[in-house]
Amino acid sequence: MNRVYNFSAGPSMLPLPVLEKAASELVCYGTSGMSVMEMSHRSPAYEAIIQKAEADLRKLMQIPDNYKVLFLQGGASTQFAAIPLNLMVSGKADYILSGQFSTKAYKEGQKYGDAKAVASSKEQNFTVIPATTKEDFRPDADYVHICYNNTIYGTKYAAVPDTGDIPLVADMSSCIISEPVDVSKFGVIYAGAQKNMAPAGLTVVIVREDLLGKARPETPSMLDWQLMADNGSMYNTPPCYSIYMAGLVYEWILEMGGLEVMQKINEEKAALLYDYLDSQDYYIAPVAKEYRSMMNVTFVTGNEELDKKFPKEAEKAGLMNLKGHHSVGGMRASIYNAMPREGVEALIAFMKDFAEKNPK
Ligand SMILES: *Cc1c(COP(=O)(O)O)cnc(C)c1O
Repeated sequence: MNRVYNFSAGPSMLPLPVLEKAASELVCYGTSGMSVMEMSHRSPAYEAIIQKAEADLRKLMQIPDNYKVLFLQGGASTQFAAIPLNLMVSGKADYILSGQFSTKAYKEGQKYGDAKAVASSKEQNFTVIPATTKEDFRPDADYVHICYNNTIYGTKYAAVPDTGDIPLVADMSSCIISEPVDVSKFGVIYAGAQKNMAPAGLTVVIVREDLLGKARPETPSMLDWQLMADNGSMYNTPPCYSIYMAGLVYEWILEMGGLEVMQKINEEKAALLYDYLDSQDYYIAPVAKEYRSMMNVTFVTGNEELDKKFPKEAEKAGLMNLKGHHSVGGMRASIYNAMPREGVEALIAFMKDFAEKNPK
């Protein structure tokens, strides 16, 4: 076995113990005599899998009882449409633009009504999170949408914005279960699983119960959260195997001690990398300190040729997918839960070596 350190933003690394556990029961799950991939989603064996996955996620995130947990398909991008369809009752919603995904969500929202961009950091190339106060939001907005961690730019909210009584809807695709969050501050939390939870194919939606049942009449059944909640995420066939894998990931974190422990490990990994970046002047970290993401670390050399060379050379050293998003260039190291500390240490050692061998 010759596994590399995979810094991909998504789909991304999964914890090795999780992959090994999945491999050990790939062909025959428990006493079922079949793979989880071959199971009816209505079978008792599968019912137990999905119920445990939900229970473990609830335990992990301390999700209050008045929230539903939905295991859906279609990626976070499908939720960009599902959000206005389920929540835009009076026809108004406010969006904070902090990067590409929040902008996509906003554009999708505009198809369904009066979606307003109340704040944007586009002028600053999304290197900061726009500052807002309660007064920036329209009191009659049905919700405020944010992207909590900006995967492409490597920024994250330093604090949950205050929206008063307006439900806050947060895309947490690239930071969910990386640290504890106070779920009660949000109306809806949603995340594509392929960054920090499971293989692609699963989207988790955590929604406060009083926000259910308001979907517009034309809402496709598959996007209707109430319908999905009423059917325990089994209105149709759910992404069975991804849910099983997510369950293994939740178990792995719970066994480690939960999200406080995960947060501590993640903070240490991110600090290693940022401390190195701040200690030298070969590489530049473009994100303002207070908004730095713990999951996606972006940096540049300031020289386009070297920025091109870096990820190529890194691959030869077993450090994969360090090229930044094509829209911003430079480098990006995604260091999700599954990235071991040794991976970050190997990256820093490589960065030092590369700087020495490639003077500017
Ligand atoms: C990757 C990502 C998305 C898009 O997710 P899909 O599941 O591919 O639709 C949306 N938001 C954020 C923050 C992401 O990182």
